[in-house]
Amino acid sequence: MDTLILKPDIAFIQLTKKISGSSVKECIQCGECTTVCSLSPENKPFPRKEMMWAGWGLKNKLTGNLDIWLCHQCGDCSAHCPRGVNPADVLSAIRQMNYLHYAKPKFLAQILSKPSFLPLAAAIPFVIILLIIYAAGTLKIPAGPVIYSKFFPHAWLNSSFFVITMAITGFTVSGIKKFWIDLKKNFPGSRKSGIFASFRAVLDDIVFHRNFNKCTAQKSRGVSHLLVFYGFMLLLAVTVCAIIAVIKDSYPLPFLSPVKIAGNVAALMMIIGISMMVYHRLFEKRKYGNSNYADWLLLVVLFLLTISGVLLEIARYQNWHVAYHIYFSHLVLVWFLIFYAPYIKFGHFIYRTVALVYARSRGRITG
Ligand code: SF4
Ligand code: SF4
Repeated sequence: MDTLILKPDIAFIQLTKKISGSSVKECIQCGECTTVCSLSPENKPFPRKEMMWAGWGLKNKLTGNLDIWLCHQCGDCSAHCPRGVNPADVLSAIRQMNYLHYAKPKFLAQILSKPSFLPLAAAIPFVIILLIIYAAGTLKIPAGPVIYSKFFPHAWLNSSFFVITMAITGFTVSGIKKFWIDLKKNFPGSRKSGIFASFRAVLDDIVFHRNFNKCTAQKSRGVSHLLVFYGFMLLLAVTVCAIIAVIKDSYPLPFLSPVKIAGNVAALMMIIGISMMVYHRLFEKRKYGNSNYADWLLLVVLFLLTISGVLLEIARYQNWHVAYHIYFSHLVLVWFLIFYAPYIKFGHFIYRTVALVYARSRGRITG
């Protein structure tokens, strides 16, 4: 008879415990979590088997794993776990380790995963934006009415951010390629539907938040998530409209333009959604699970980005002298969110979408 030799990765067990705040070793493999999970497929369901692999330190089984991405962290399994192990948080921690595993360059993944490196992470965009403005020859607070392009000329702003966005896109695509190869290796099988059809179906799930609606333990999580998701999408659309207005030389836009109104509505949605999330994480820990550094980093950056966006609009209309400082801080936050996206919890969204497309194309999820 063949002998199976397991090689536990102790560091992986410790890191899972540290990020999730849950003791995976206390899982007794009762399977209650799998029974209550409304997203788990009948064939090889989760998360019991993932809990076993996590407890045994089988990092290889959990890297490039497909099922960890099918979980939407609804918390139903944690609410029913008789050992209080919190499988929802354990799976979330493993997902975090996964997107950091695929992220390139590695040093960015390193500095964005540790609180002690936060000053360095913030200093990088701060210094680079400062250097770009210096190169543009506008590194001083302009006199007269507030016009942001006098401080950071639009041509410099758009071209420099475009170049950096392209570089980050390249790194992200390279990580996704590696992830896709691992998914194929770990979950082989013939294709049941085309990639574009699968992508359309996943987009449909995301737009209507179908999987969130299946949560029973964390009912209001779907609402806060929807507010932040649509608020953010609306802000992206507003940003694209603003760039078009700059190109057409019709910027700044009047206060009552539809784009401005949409921007303010989006900001309100974001503020309400983020506030709900913060409340859940601070005051309803039992129901919403533990929050780690990655959770808080994304929430704080999103909140500061929204607030600074609102403030810079007010500052421009009021001609506050401090408007340029707010504008600079806002740009640093934009950088932080967009250019660090693959290395912070935003990476969840990228890798989950890819995994869901793969799962649909292989028939792992249907309906
Ligand atoms: S319900 Fe808890 S103890 Fe039971 S298998 Fe799941 S994680 Fe382990
Ligand atoms: S958190 Fe929800 S979706 Fe994820 S494994 Fe638990 S019950 Fe299933």
